[in-house]
Amino acid sequence: MRTIRKKIALVTGAGSGIGRAIALRLAQEGADLFLIDIAEKELAATVAAAKSRGACAVGRYCDVSQQPQISACTRAVIDRWGGVDILVNNAGITYYGDTAEMSIEHCERLLAINLHAPIQFTCELLPSMLEREEAHVLNVASFFGLIGSRKLAAYTSSKFGLVGFSESLRAEYGRRGLGVTALCPGFVDTNLFATAPRGKDLSENKIPPGWLLTTPEKIAKRAIKAIYRNQALVVQQPYAKLAHFGKRFFPSVIDWAHHASRRRKKRAVPELPEASTTRHRAA
Ligand code: NAD
Repeated sequence: MRTIRKKIALVTGAGSGIGRAIALRLAQEGADLFLIDIAEKELAATVAAAKSRGACAVGRYCDVSQQPQISACTRAVIDRWGGVDILVNNAGITYYGDTAEMSIEHCERLLAINLHAPIQFTCELLPSMLEREEAHVLNVASFFGLIGSRKLAAYTSSKFGLVGFSESLRAEYGRRGLGVTALCPGFVDTNLFATAPRGKDLSENKIPPGWLLTTPEKIAKRAIKAIYRNQALVVQQPYAKLAHFGKRFFPSVIDWAHHASRRRKKRAVPELPEASTTRHRAA
């Protein structure tokens, strides 16, 4: 068992959802916090809540899509505390819609926030982390980092990248005491999907149904356990575990499922009468 008490933790995206819940759990376990977000009001609320749990907590505005802002943050935390023991790369955005409709600007921003930022934070903080005992990097990925999905190509790419980065980091530095976890939850009840830019077809329901959702607090509880036990990969929620199992051992079944839904949709499209088909072609 590792320890969290009296450790310094940096959490990105701590203003809401999973990041906020992990920050508050870390505070409860006795860590001091350096919290980052672009949502300043929400961030201030998390800082206040962490302080009320007895933690020393500092909040800082940082847009993690901007490399100079990340460097300024890592310098600030090194100046203040000499580095961090626990790095939680959590800030993330998504895009739901046809990949063909996604703008390259949004794709770049998504990759910058979800993948490049965790890599930059890790690289800049790693030297100080390796000097500490039992330092830990917790990367908040997703079960879409283990299994591909329609209309989430950019998000899925970023999360596959984050899972790969976590695995490589663990392989490279595990012997020197660095713990690394890739946390891969299923759907969580947060702002992520509601605030995501969408493709043109707005008629589709983008928010996952309630029965698939869990709470950020449950994810945070599992994340803390993963740090204590230095677990490499945490897949949470039964359907996410099932999908991961299926992908590993029966990949053709998952592939068939994607194509089966396509065949169903094709069958559902009503045949046009001959006359209107002709008119349609003429138009
Ligand atoms: P959320 O929208 O509630 O929280 C994301 C936080 O990141 C927000 O506070 C937001 O202000 C912050 N953020 C966004 N862009 C930022 C930027 N450029 N710089 C700094 N901060 C920024 O969503 P969440 O669900 O709590 O997402 C947290 C992480 O969990 C993400 O990486 C997401 O991919 C992952 N995740 C979410 C789900 C889910 O279903 N909600 C499932 C699996 C994984």
